[in-house]
Amino acid sequence: MSGSITSVAYIGATILFILSLGGLSNPETSRRGNLYGMLGMGIAVLATIFGPHVSLSGLGWILAALVAGGGVGLYLARTVQMTQMPELVAFMHSLVGLVATVVGYASYIDPTAAAGMSPAEAGIHHVEVYLGVLIGAVTLSGSVIAFGKLSGKIGGKPLMLPARHWLNLTMLVLVLVLGQRFLAAGSIEQGMLPLYAMTAIALLFGVHMVMAIGGADMPVVVSMLNSYSGWAAAATGFMLSNDLLIVTGALVGSSGAILSYIMCRAMNRQFLSVIAGGFGSDGGAPKTAGGAAAPVGEVTSVSAQETAELLKDASSVIIVPGYGMAVAQAQHTVYEITKTLREKGKNVRFAIHPVAGRMPGHMNVLLAEAKVPYDIVMEMDEINDDFPATDVAMVIGANDIVNPSAQDDPSSPIAGMPVLEVWKAKTSIVMKRSMASGYAGVDNPLFYKENNRMLFGDAKKMLDEVLAALRA
Ligand code: NDP
Repeated sequence: MSGSITSVAYIGATILFILSLGGLSNPETSRRGNLYGMLGMGIAVLATIFGPHVSLSGLGWILAALVAGGGVGLYLARTVQMTQMPELVAFMHSLVGLVATVVGYASYIDPTAAAGMSPAEAGIHHVEVYLGVLIGAVTLSGSVIAFGKLSGKIGGKPLMLPARHWLNLTMLVLVLVLGQRFLAAGSIEQGMLPLYAMTAIALLFGVHMVMAIGGADMPVVVSMLNSYSGWAAAATGFMLSNDLLIVTGALVGSSGAILSYIMCRAMNRQFLSVIAGGFGSDGGAPKTAGGAAAPVGEVTSVSAQETAELLKDASSVIIVPGYGMAVAQAQHTVYEITKTLREKGKNVRFAIHPVAGRMPGHMNVLLAEAKVPYDIVMEMDEINDDFPATDVAMVIGANDIVNPSAQDDPSSPIAGMPVLEVWKAKTSIVMKRSMASGYAGVDNPLFYKENNRMLFGDAKKMLDEVLAALRA
């Protein structure tokens, strides 16, 4: 394939990637967006393999790698549970970081990579290598720690080393000094030592950055690492002089940064401090139940039958789904209940918090899978003012996103995070298995409010019972 045909294919793939991102911004067009993305990636891979930079003598290796990588990807995609998606995404990000690091090393030690370059061009190439390895190594180790935190293998409590900001600053200065040594090196052998040292520091920095982040701030970390992985891919594109990789990496990097900004707004965090890393650690330590801010009072529990009665008497209902609905896989029963209530003439809507569940859009995906109509699924800002005029707010496996202490308790780790004000409804019903706290590890005073009822049990089991009682 000639260079110009490859360029045309790359432009086509770029357009498909942009259309894909556009499609993914709305649940109704997201399937089409995915298709565009797959088509674009298919074209990109084929155009690269048959393009002028790849020798077809290595085709066997490339096919073997494609079959092995594609096989693992297919297996993971088919077997992963929806609740494990954030971990899978973090794992994928770590692979992007690993690739950027390895390609950086390969591109530095490959004697043909800089052959024929002027000293200025070789200097630029070495800067690309250094930055690519730096971003790649931070993304790699940061994503591995994020994977551990999201899967519960590493505790959510932030690691607060003494003088941690000084430690970060020292690492930054060392990276700059080593960079100067690397660029001044007279030979590849001389450049390897500063490159190794910088990689070790970057790996440490990634670990330290994510370890210092409290459980309540993890959503922003996921989207921030998404952004970093894009910039790592863009850096790889510069090293390999591959325009499509630069553009694709920049698209992922900037869309991840925009998502981080949206998540920050949703959690009332400062965007700039997130970009700098190490955010959410001041006061971000999850409080244990029974701490200074532990709520007091009695909880009123109800049965599934009583819940059904409350729903039958209501004319307006808002359903708030959370992580527990995903765990229980209760979305299909939720849809059946919604249908039954709507057939009885009730106004039923859904309120979606931007960080509900364990990944951006988690609840939207589950509700779309259960065929809940899009027009009754509302974003937090669209529906939060409607709770006072609502008869029943039904909270299904959600906790942090409906926690009033975010508004009332300035010392709370989630203080300032906008929450769904379910307690303003005439009656709120919280469906969960116990009094346990949610992801952020914070007690929830909502459970003790006078107009709140607790329906204890697995969300799927309890909702099946509520549905049966509604239909009886
Ligand atoms: P939470 O984690 O706050 O609460 C979920 C609740 O679901 C738990 O308290 C649990 O209580 C209950 N639950 C678990 N399993 C079941 C079950 N089978 N049946 C019924 N209930 C169940 O979830 P939210 O959605 O309210 O909030 C999301 C949290 O996750 C926020 O803190 C957010 O910051 C964080 N997060 C979000 C990410 C995102 O991108 N959306 C990414 C990473 C973290 P019990 O054990 O008593 O049943």
